[in-house]
Amino acid sequence: MTHNHFDTPPIDILVVDDTAENVRFLSTMLIREGYQVRKAINGQLALTAVQARLPDLILLDIMMPDMDGYAVCSHLKGMPHTAEIPVIFLSALDDAFDKVKAFKVGGADYMTKPFHFEEVLARVKHQLAIQAAERKNHRLNAQLEDRVLERTQQLEIANARLLEMALCDSLTQLANRAAFIDRLEQALNQLRNQPESQFAVLFLDCDRFKIVNDSLGHFVGDQLLVAIAQRLKQHLRQVDTLARLGGDEFAILLTQIIDKDSTIQFANQILGAFIEPFTLEDHQVFINASIGIALGKADYDKPEHLLRDADTAMYHAKAAGKAQYRLFETTMHRTALQLLQIETDLRRAISQQEFSLNYQPIVALDSGKIAGLEALIRWNHPTRGFIPPSKFIPVAEETGLISEIGSWVLKEACHQIRTWQKQKVIDPNFSVSVNLSASQFAQINLMQQITQILAEAELHPSCLKLEVTESAIMDNPRLAADILSKLRQQHIQLSMDDFGTGYSSLSYLQLFPMDYLKIDRSFVMCLDGTEEQLGLVPIILKIAQTMNMQVVAEGIETSEQLAQLRSLDCDFGQGYFFSKPLTAEKVVELIKSGCQW
Ligand code: C2E
Ligand code: MG
Ligand code: MG
Repeated sequence: MTHNHFDTPPIDILVVDDTAENVRFLSTMLIREGYQVRKAINGQLALTAVQARLPDLILLDIMMPDMDGYAVCSHLKGMPHTAEIPVIFLSALDDAFDKVKAFKVGGADYMTKPFHFEEVLARVKHQLAIQAAERKNHRLNAQLEDRVLERTQQLEIANARLLEMALCDSLTQLANRAAFIDRLEQALNQLRNQPESQFAVLFLDCDRFKIVNDSLGHFVGDQLLVAIAQRLKQHLRQVDTLARLGGDEFAILLTQIIDKDSTIQFANQILGAFIEPFTLEDHQVFINASIGIALGKADYDKPEHLLRDADTAMYHAKAAGKAQYRLFETTMHRTALQLLQIETDLRRAISQQEFSLNYQPIVALDSGKIAGLEALIRWNHPTRGFIPPSKFIPVAEETGLISEIGSWVLKEACHQIRTWQKQKVIDPNFSVSVNLSASQFAQINLMQQITQILAEAELHPSCLKLEVTESAIMDNPRLAADILSKLRQQHIQLSMDDFGTGYSSLSYLQLFPMDYLKIDRSFVMCLDGTEEQLGLVPIILKIAQTMNMQVVAEGIETSEQLAQLRSLDCDFGQGYFFSKPLTAEKVVELIKSGCQW
């Protein structure tokens, strides 16, 4: 057996005995076996030797002057760094050897003289083997502990990351809804304890964000959201919390506010921040936001309710014409619930075919004959009865359901007109007008959709008129210009609907030439046969004429109004005076009757 390997140090055995003969015998024998042996002739020297270098094993005589073997052993076992060294006691035949005591003080084994070579070697090896096994065990344990520690650290990092992800919006790195609710809860608790710790929640939703997304793509949409987040941040103080709730919705928690007025001031400041365009990589985008405000009150049970109320107020801001703020009032609740119900019901209405079209005659004022029809959607709700388009079209727009509804209207109207043409009820230049909402107008595939519908219905494009409002165009002028010119190429005619109610700017009509201008009912309503009440109508008519647009007066209800419009050379008229919107069956009867006004 060779222990003098280069890489593993030789096993070091300390032999402690006051009898020189024993020491010599044991060491000669062990060295021959390849062990390294050190010698000590009393207890004290033994301890010194151990301190100088820790041996792998000690052979320890019991009977020694001054300090006996038991004392040496107890001493070693009492110190942590020497406690593990295995000790084999040696006893002379005549010693009063106490085996029990030997083990009590920590001895590992014992041998009695005379020593037999084989036995000494066997016991030494046995102890060394036990020790090696223990060391290995120790090492493995330590490794295991290291690994557990490492795992724990990894887990902690992962957990922190998960928590971060759970509370952070990955796109903007802002707090997300969960984190915001958390903060809101804290603010609410604080308010309950300290009534002076006022706070407010602002719910912010971008206007027309969907249009940006649909027209420029999601990547640009995402860039825009990041830019908005950055701009909003600039207006916040350290104590405020800004969160992205999802989509184009952001929320702000203002703490340490003084009163309602300072909150409103802040809301105005935020609205002002949207005046400048957002400069993205390849685009400059103008976007507005609507803001709903809920002031913190101690009687709110849950933070979610505050957020809900701010959301409701935001909807009212949008309904009021966008780019505005609204403070939440308790009366707003009902309408919010109704809106939600309409949305749910609308989804079902599409599949259950609860929609139908009514047609209202458009009369040529010179001949007094019906020249065309405007298709107007009707929703017959199974339990709530008739719901007017003014109630559900805005919801359909907001939820995106409008594209499905709009395409159904187009198909139905084109199909109906074509059927009447085939039946020779109407002549070939009779047209149908279909309303397009702002978001429909911004759909990228609008052109494709219309062309396909016309082809399927085998209807000539000149029989279709599309009615768009001023806001549909002004919301996105560049896109509008593009679509308008494409529609024109296809010989589809265009009407500017509800003229006078929106931007009321005649100058932009030059930029967006249309075939027809529909003067809003509110202007026509004023006409009472007297000169004074003519108002803007003659001026609008003049301008339209100089721009080669034909004019349709909406909402004619009396013969006086009709007479006055005729005297002003207005081209077309529409209104209850001629006919209310009618079902397809009823309107075809009216046309067949050859009526004339
Ligand atoms: P609009 O395009 O300006 O349609 C004319 C509205 O005025 C219709 O209301 C019509 O019933 C009403 N009206 C017509 N003559 C008179 C009158 O003499 N007096 C009064 N008081 N009202 C008159 P309706 O059907 O409730 O539609 C309201 C609006 O809803 C429409 O205004 C249009 O903007 C929208 N809309 C209707 N159908 C559709 C549709 O299929 N798609 C889209 N996107 N919007 C639609
Ligand atoms: Mg219309
Ligand atoms: Mg109109």
